[in-house]
Amino acid sequence: MGKIMIVDDARLMRNIIRTALLENNDYKIVEAVNGKEAVALYKQEQPDIVTMDITMEVKNGVEAAKEILEYDPNAKIIMVTSLGQEKLLKECVEAGVSDYIVKPFTKERITSSILNSLNN
Ligand SMILES: [Mg+2]
Repeated sequence: MGKIMIVDDARLMRNIIRTALLENNDYKIVEAVNGKEAVALYKQEQPDIVTMDITMEVKNGVEAAKEILEYDPNAKIIMVTSLGQEKLLKECVEAGVSDYIVKPFTKERITSSILNSLNN
């Protein structure tokens, strides 16, 4: 069983991702509501994989992803992006994130992204 950290400032989006992931798989899930919380929780929980929103108050997903990858170069991070965030996304890909999905996404898309990243 993998441990997944969902990072998003929107409760609705956290719930959508959590529901999609738990539908067919048994994961332990932890959640953070901004990038600052995400970095601290990553160190505490050492999740196998992270889904990371980009736009968040306090600390955004780009900064958080970079900090997590600095702390753990093997961290597996999937960015959850919106159309129009290509420039920020490019920065994340260059920093070493594993994958990205674009909102709105299907359950199948996020589940397969998680499975692929877990197996790589
Ligand atoms: Mg957001």
